[in-house]
Amino acid sequence: LWQNVPLAPPDSIFKLTAAYKADTFDKKVNLGVGAYRDDDDKPWILPVVRKAEEILLNTPALDHEYLPITGLPEFTIAAAKLILGPDSSAIAEGRVTAVQTISGTGANHLGALFLSRFYQWSGDKKEVYLSDPTWANHPAIFNNVGIASLYYPYYDPKTIGLNFDGFLSSLESAPSGSVFLIHACAHNPTGVDPTRDQWDAIAKIMLDKGHYGFFDCAYQGFASGDLDNDAWAVRFFVDKGVNMLICQSFAKNAGLYGERVGALHVVSPNKEAAERVKSQLSVLQRSEISNPPSYGARIVTLILNDPALFDEWKRDISTMAGRIIDMRKELFKILTEELHTPGNWNHIVNQIGMFSFTGITPEQSKALTEKAHIYLTVNGRISMTGLNRHNIRYFATSLDAAVRG
Ligand code: PMP
Repeated sequence: LWQNVPLAPPDSIFKLTAAYKADTFDKKVNLGVGAYRDDDDKPWILPVVRKAEEILLNTPALDHEYLPITGLPEFTIAAAKLILGPDSSAIAEGRVTAVQTISGTGANHLGALFLSRFYQWSGDKKEVYLSDPTWANHPAIFNNVGIASLYYPYYDPKTIGLNFDGFLSSLESAPSGSVFLIHACAHNPTGVDPTRDQWDAIAKIMLDKGHYGFFDCAYQGFASGDLDNDAWAVRFFVDKGVNMLICQSFAKNAGLYGERVGALHVVSPNKEAAERVKSQLSVLQRSEISNPPSYGARIVTLILNDPALFDEWKRDISTMAGRIIDMRKELFKILTEELHTPGNWNHIVNQIGMFSFTGITPEQSKALTEKAHIYLTVNGRISMTGLNRHNIRYFATSLDAAVRG
């Protein structure tokens, strides 16, 4: 049996982590992982999460019964308000269907599955436009539900910034009613986001052409350190009336990676449509996972619904986002002022979020790993949280050496 099963390659990020772990060099650096690390390179349990866990532990009425199919209602309502805004008219009008999912990956999957079944595809082709580049899991998730991936230009290697014209012309030339996957903030892997003026132009074409916005929001709070600021584009598109859904993850901003806390929010034109959407999402969810997990959702529910805990969470987010911004500034300073590394490094401070596209070549990236024991993806993406005050100088000098060749 299974003679016909081809051996699949291991996931590249997890392979990178395994290689890092196996490396015995004392100055090794892991810049592959997409998870926050503190200044001592340790995973960080947010103090507000610890507090919420203590409250949960001391709530005797809590049991381990199943949650409803669409999740903990107090969680999904608060999660919708977090991304759409506390005064969102779409929520007030009952146009938002919020379903708890297995973190952001599950939200992407459920959203893709729903579109695959119910979106009014023109013709018999099911296709999604993804940014070039994008999170490696996106094409795989859509492929699993029979939706093929096309790519729109996003990143311009010449400017190490946004290929705005390419993005717009792709929106213009795609058939009306196309589905566009859009990173809500802190684009992965490039760390390059459109400006507000650029979002405005993107929204206009999306509306004109009746495109559908599949928003993926895995880093709310990580782009600017401010939750509302990072939700700006999503709220703007909802206000403009773009048809859309939003995939939301609490993995990064609450540090609840393994607890798998997330939600899918589908914004419909009216309440009746939202109810029909909810009924079908329930049917899909039932056959896929029956009921979402409760522990992480309870933690997030406490944090979102208690003003004091919510304020504390915002401070914890600023701690994480602030440390990343400090690392960007420090790296930029060492490269430009101390080492005078050839090339322009402005993008290190201009890009936002957890990741930065350094702009180095695959050869330089490989040289960093082979010669300096610095682990990063070959596309030159580095996770800024892997840098800290102990290793930043080592990284900068190694990068300088790799660039000089
Ligand atoms: N979307 C993007 C763009 C991501 O980078 C990630 C995390 N790497 C996710 C979704 C989902 O992650 P999770 O399932 O851990 O919430």
